[in-house]
This record gives sequence, C-alpha cells and structure tokens, in this order.
Amino acid sequence: MGEQEPEGGGEAAKTRKPRKSAPSAKPAKAAKAAKDVKVTKAARPRKKATVVTEKATAAVPKASPAKTVAPEPPKGESRTALVRRARRINRELAEVYPYAHPELDFENPFQLLVATVLSAQTTDLRVNQTTPALFARYPTPEDLAAADPEHVEEILRPCGFFRAKTKSVMGLSKALTEEFGGEVPGRLEDLVKLPGVGRKTAFVVLGNAFGRPGITVDTHFQRLVRRWQWTEETDPEKIEAAVGALFPKSDWTMLSHHVIFHGRRICHARKPACGACPIAPLCPAYGEGETDPEKAKKLLKYEKGGFPGQRLKPPQAYLDAGGKPAPPLRANG
Ligand code: SF4
Repeated sequence: MGEQEPEGGGEAAKTRKPRKSAPSAKPAKAAKAAKDVKVTKAARPRKKATVVTEKATAAVPKASPAKTVAPEPPKGESRTALVRRARRINRELAEVYPYAHPELDFENPFQLLVATVLSAQTTDLRVNQTTPALFARYPTPEDLAAADPEHVEEILRPCGFFRAKTKSVMGLSKALTEEFGGEVPGRLEDLVKLPGVGRKTAFVVLGNAFGRPGITVDTHFQRLVRRWQWTEETDPEKIEAAVGALFPKSDWTMLSHHVIFHGRRICHARKPACGACPIAPLCPAYGEGETDPEKAKKLLKYEKGGFPGQRLKPPQAYLDAGGKPAPPLRANG
C-alpha cells in the first residue's frame, strides 16, 4: 500500500484554492446522489457545511466498537447527516470501483505481509515488479530467514531503501519461523510485534488475507477523509477510530479500498480531478482541483485514464472492467 505521489500535507490550507460549487447536472451517478442530497451555494468557506441531507432518518450507529471514537461533525452538519453522507460516498465509490482490491500481488498471507512492508516509500507497482523474483527464490519464511542478506538486497534494490527493507523482511521471517511456526498470525497484537510491521501493515494483512475488518489509514485515506470532512484528526490512529465510528465494522476493509482507489485515480494530492469526479455533489472540497471536465479527464490515472494498473496479476473483476495488468519490471525498463 505504498505511496504514488508525495503527500507532504500538500493540500493543506496554505495551497487551497477558493472552492467552486459542485456541478448540479452530472452524469447518472451524480444525478442519483443529487436526488437525496442538496449542495449549498458556491464559494462558501470550508467550515460551513456544503452538503446537507434532506432527510436525516438513518440511525446513528449504536455504541461504537471499543476503539472507535465518534467524531464531531463539521460545523453546520449534524452527526446523523455526517454518517449518512459518509455512507453515501462509500456506496457511490463502490459503484465507481466495483473491482476495488489490494493493489499488491500476493498468493498467501506471507507474501502479502512482505509486500506490504516493502511498499513503504515506493509504489505498489514497483513492489509487484520486484516480489516475483523474491518469492520464487524464497517462498517461505524459513527460506527468507536463512537467506544471504546480500542476495536479498540485490533482489530488493528496485524498491528503494533496500538494505533496511532486507533487514525488515528477513527479521519478520525469522520471527515468524521462531515464534509462530512459520505461519503469519491472524491477530493484530501478534502482527504488530513483528519487525517493521505497524498497524497499517497489520490491517492490510488482516483485512485481505484473513477477512478480518480493518481500516487502512495510508496517505490517500488521510487526505480524502479530511477533504470530505469526515474527521479533522491528523493522527492515523485517531483517524482510524473516527472513521471507524461512521461505518459498520463489516464495511471497513472495502471502504479502505474504495477510498484508496479514489485517491490514486481521481482525488490526487496535488491536482484532484474534480471535474471528472463522480462524487462531486457529495464533496465539501469540490473545486480544490481542476473543475473543467475535459482537463479533469486528462488527470485520471490507471484504468480510469485507460492505463495499466499496478498489479501484474489483477483480479478477474478488474480485467473484466477493462483494467490492464501492469508490465513486468524488464518491460518497464
Ligand atoms: S476529486 Fe474533487 S470533488 Fe472529487 S472527492 Fe476529490 S476534492 Fe472532492
């Protein structure tokens, strides 16, 4: 779940452009959203809610799970309206990205764990282009723990920070071998004890290899939930708790994929493609990026822009939707 573009707090207030009103006549999806939601007038400052639900009948989730914390809704928006709007955005994104998935290639929990650790400070694409050679040579934790570090470094060189990453993946392989019988544990508290494994990595593994719900707060997730005013928290763990309180636990893993897909394809850090964004009518930050539909279209990435994705072996649903596999390392230069 590596980074595609620098975050650098880039979209923070200092660089923010004045907002424009979200388009009132949008393609089908937006029209559907607009039926239940009205967007308030243009160029209001961010703190004034720009999206208000007409009916606020949805129940606020019952007592939040232990670690979740109900966030304060943005000024002018009730807690119920915030929950409704957040869930509506997630439903819209589910329609835009029905094939959303983790963008790291993996065939088992061990591969996903290693790939996620390797994805720090680089793209998932680069990791996917690197791991086939690694897993062909060292398919199990035992194999990787006993490897020659120099050989592993050579394989991992394209991922950047290859010496530190070699230490991490060999260290976690050793811990898996010695403490968990060569298996990746399926519990958060065990995963975060492994060298180089934090909560983000642990939730990626739990959500995608064990089917246990988790929210992945990466740089895209942080940026988008702030743009949507789901929370004003900046600490990843607090964001996780605040956003977790807006959704049922069963939604957490796919919510993470939807948000991250949207951040990588449309709602970029520096130039969000607002004019081509299907959830514009629901977004308080509409106008932060390019609003001209033609210019915005040119900013779209991966399958939304007609380009290959990040996975060399994407899920069938992605291919069925017209997505293309990423090229292997050699073909990419
Ligand atoms: S692209 Fe623009 S309209 Fe769409 S979610 Fe991002 S900021 Fe909002």
